[in-house]
Amino acid sequence: MSSNVTIYRNAVVFTGDAAVPPRESFAVRDGRILAAGDLESVRLASGGGAEEVDLGGAFVSPGIIEGHAHMLMLGESLSKVQLRDAKSVAEVQERLAAARAADPDAPRILGTSWLFDIFSEGERPTAAMLDAAVPDVPVLLDANDLHSVWANTAALEAMGITRDTPDPVGGEIVRDANGDATGFLLETAAVKHAWGYLDEVTTDDDRDRFLTAAFDAYLETGVTGSTEMSFGHPDLAAYRRVLDRDGRLPFPVNAHWLLTASGDLETDLAEVAEVARIRDEVAAQYGDQWLRIAGVKFILDGVIDACTAAMRAPYANGDMPGPIWEREFALPVAVAADAAGLQLALHAIGDEASTIALDMVQECIRVNGPRADRRARVEHLESVADDTIARMAALGVTASMQPVHCDPAVLDNWQAVLGDERAHTGFPWHKFREGGVMLALGTDAPTAPHEAPNNLFIALTAKSALDRSREPYQPHRVFTPADALEALTLGTAYATRRDHELGRISAGFRANAVVWAANPLTDAPEKLLDSSAVLTLVDGEPGFRAAE
Ligand SMILES: [Zn+2]
Repeated sequence: MSSNVTIYRNAVVFTGDAAVPPRESFAVRDGRILAAGDLESVRLASGGGAEEVDLGGAFVSPGIIEGHAHMLMLGESLSKVQLRDAKSVAEVQERLAAARAADPDAPRILGTSWLFDIFSEGERPTAAMLDAAVPDVPVLLDANDLHSVWANTAALEAMGITRDTPDPVGGEIVRDANGDATGFLLETAAVKHAWGYLDEVTTDDDRDRFLTAAFDAYLETGVTGSTEMSFGHPDLAAYRRVLDRDGRLPFPVNAHWLLTASGDLETDLAEVAEVARIRDEVAAQYGDQWLRIAGVKFILDGVIDACTAAMRAPYANGDMPGPIWEREFALPVAVAADAAGLQLALHAIGDEASTIALDMVQECIRVNGPRADRRARVEHLESVADDTIARMAALGVTASMQPVHCDPAVLDNWQAVLGDERAHTGFPWHKFREGGVMLALGTDAPTAPHEAPNNLFIALTAKSALDRSREPYQPHRVFTPADALEALTLGTAYATRRDHELGRISAGFRANAVVWAANPLTDAPEKLLDSSAVLTLVDGEPGFRAAE
């Protein structure tokens, strides 16, 4: 007798809930978890004839749900010149020249993840530095945090940037004493000019390749769900092509549409209404099992590395920039999105920005009333005040954080520009846990490496996954393995309003699960580093299987 049930046995099954002890087996039927528990009870629930798979004592968790990502950009970055470990401008130049020589017909050279640490004090990126390596085709290099772009002269020309091009709201085209662009685009100037240009020259075939590469890269590392954090028309078109072709995605994705701070309230409100219309249209056409336009994303400030995050006190250099969204626009636009059922994801890195974020949530509650499924979330929270953490707990706002962003190997400039006590009190995971704030973890790939085991390693150790010689950053903050795994599974499922179907190995849930090469509950965390999944299940089917 055979049945359509598969029992996975002889395993250590973390259910997604840190308070529940691991199970030894689970059964899958028709893409759903049928039962989880001891082998006898799982066999009983399965009836006769189930196929049994012996996992040899392996550790199993619910599939990791990436809490914050940019899928097309990740896929694209996997094909770009990688600069994260370049130690100097000269090393960047060498790699660009090598890439040019390796592909002489390439219409442009794209690079990613350069660090501010490569410049000497007071030095900033210039087009001339890149022209020295590649003078003839456009070169566009994303900063590690994706909040600025470094361009050569050919790229400035291709983007149409002249001395007469104005700075967009919330951004800056850095200029020299003569008023000429130097090749460094900050914040919305990078979004508008560099990303806008790349959107124009990138073909649909390119985007389809990028999306496939991102899904594959995630499945290999045990990820079975993702949260898109700067969704727009090109992204939606790429997802539609997959849905039209396959009727599904490789795993479910929740998307937050990136709003633009236009400086005009009517324009901002019209964009919110358009996002709600697109959300309804997509849901009517495809359902929301795979793709859901969940909400909107506000980028309230920049990043600490570029001194563009909005802080309550000045940076070491005296800078004290304002937010990208002023309250007079942020509050009414948030209320309109919330009224339309669009979930708020609020990028706030500096302590002043997260204060504004909570003012927005509070205004939504005041105007639209309390709601259990509001699930507002603040992204990043790198330098955050204690009063903000207490307010988040009171308002039921999720902290969406990225352990990879405080890898000690990328913190030197971050600490230097703050320059005071704040350099040592960043990313206070422990305070969120102690304060009873919901936590959702992710990587924000491609601003940081996307691999889930390395991200988990940093959450467990506060050590560097990039440079083993580094001291840990404030190791008293670390998670227990169970708490970190919960924040990567159930926590992100809650944050994406999918905790009724994802994030648990429990009867009735979608059978999204990972068999790991290491057991984070008992092995040394170092064993996680650079490990892949052994088997990644999506709705009960293998999305990835490691070679024997
Ligand atoms: Zn992001």
